[in-house]
Amino acid sequence: MTKYLKLFINGEWIHSANPETQDVINPANQGVIAKAPKATKAETEKTIHIAKSTFESGVWSERTPGERAEVLLQIANGIEAHLNELTELEVMNNGKTIREAEADVTDALNTFRYYASLLQNQTDETFEAEKDLQTMIVKEPMGVAGLIVPWNFPILMSVWKIAPALAAGNSIILKPAEITPMTAVKLYEIIEQTDLPKGVAQLLLGTGSVVGQTIAESEGVDVVSFTGSTQVGQRIMQAAAGNLKKVSLELGGKSPNIIFNDADIDLAVDYALFGIFMGAGQVCTSGSRLLVQEDIYASFIEKYLEKAKTIQVGPGNNVNSEMGAIVSEKHMNSILDYIQVGKEEGARLILGGNRMEEVDLKKGFFIEPTVFTDVTSDMRIVREEIFGPVVVIQTFKEEEDAIHLANDTDYGLAGAVFSQDQAKAIRVIKKVRAGITWVNNYHLSSVQSPWGGYKTSGIGRSLGKYGLDEYQETKQINISMNAEQLDWFEGKK
Ligand code: NAD
Repeated sequence: MTKYLKLFINGEWIHSANPETQDVINPANQGVIAKAPKATKAETEKTIHIAKSTFESGVWSERTPGERAEVLLQIANGIEAHLNELTELEVMNNGKTIREAEADVTDALNTFRYYASLLQNQTDETFEAEKDLQTMIVKEPMGVAGLIVPWNFPILMSVWKIAPALAAGNSIILKPAEITPMTAVKLYEIIEQTDLPKGVAQLLLGTGSVVGQTIAESEGVDVVSFTGSTQVGQRIMQAAAGNLKKVSLELGGKSPNIIFNDADIDLAVDYALFGIFMGAGQVCTSGSRLLVQEDIYASFIEKYLEKAKTIQVGPGNNVNSEMGAIVSEKHMNSILDYIQVGKEEGARLILGGNRMEEVDLKKGFFIEPTVFTDVTSDMRIVREEIFGPVVVIQTFKEEEDAIHLANDTDYGLAGAVFSQDQAKAIRVIKKVRAGITWVNNYHLSSVQSPWGGYKTSGIGRSLGKYGLDEYQETKQINISMNAEQLDWFEGKK
């Protein structure tokens, strides 16, 4: 029987008034998992209104940090209790492997626990500004937070926003990507079971152009936190200008991974492969530009290809699969188009480049791990985010050349350096204009660390105490208890 997904508004699961639905597809076999509603503009506006009234009522915004932490821990425990179900849903809907999905769900519950502990340890700043003037710096929730997320880490990107936004005391509206709503629905079923007052957390399923745009434009929304493409991020910023709502944008990337000739080559190969083929390259921080020092290029590439050829591509729910499906047919075709562009631009394809046609894979959207060499900096496959299992490899002679190539991009999300010379590695990574960087590893990060990009990769930071700041106002309160009259206006003639 077909499952019809619902909206969660003011603590109730309701069907959208719009009869039109969108099929939710399993990208590993094109099976229809569910039908998702497309909420209307009117439903979105009503939801924003409800979130605003709940905020103003103080049922959540005026709870103490300790009380809010308690609820965040209940959500974390709920996720933990449903870890397997959430993992299966993520695999089924997104196409990623069990190992990847399990890591995401575990990160999600740890994010709630982290923000609960941050709340319990947060103290207001107070100081004596001058004689008889005590100043308090307090953090306050902003109001209604619109949270718009992409399809590549459906539960994790949602939680990176929900946890700090709730921790800060806001009311929230989550809008998942149209094609990956499954874990968000389950997460809200978990939230429903906690002591979070109704009307604090809403879930709207629908299109970016209707639901997302309405949230971004609305005067009732005080902060919009968006993760997705740079193009949509730009549109959101324009839409947000109406009431000057706070905007936080986590956008795309084309991140460089620099391998020096003094790197531990086996380690560099291992992480370089993980850097691009984890999540089938559908990761904002993917190391999609590999920069290898000229004199080790031949030996590096031999080991890199040897290992890349062994990557087991297959359905995420097969425990032997190491790289899963591409999320949708549309996105698969966009990646295949880029591969064609690369060939036409004159790049040399040395591995992969095709949709996988094996009997057990051809019903799904699978692309071979793909490697291009002999590329130049002006090629589209070097400049544009492909967001798939496609890497371009360039060579460099000297340290300065590597830095120049690394920064020759409009993006600035991530970057890495591999070298056993610690001083050089640190020197170079400091010159890479990106917010998330690594030395001798790739993709390793923690919930405490600020996540975000330079240049067109975004504005603001998720996670850590920085992530909480995105959903808070900062107020100074200047207190005099023994104030003497100022007599500023003496009425002189
Ligand atoms: P997308 O920009 O197409 O969509 C993201 C979300 O925005 C979806 O929920 C979509 O419905 C919504 N949306 C679309 N048009 C909108 C509009 N006009 N107004 C408001 N909302 C709108 O991105 P995607 O294809 O889902 O995700 C891939 C992109 O996300 C890549 O560029 C990737 O790099 C980026 N990403 C960045 C990070 C990061 O942390 N920097 C993390 C994950 C993904």
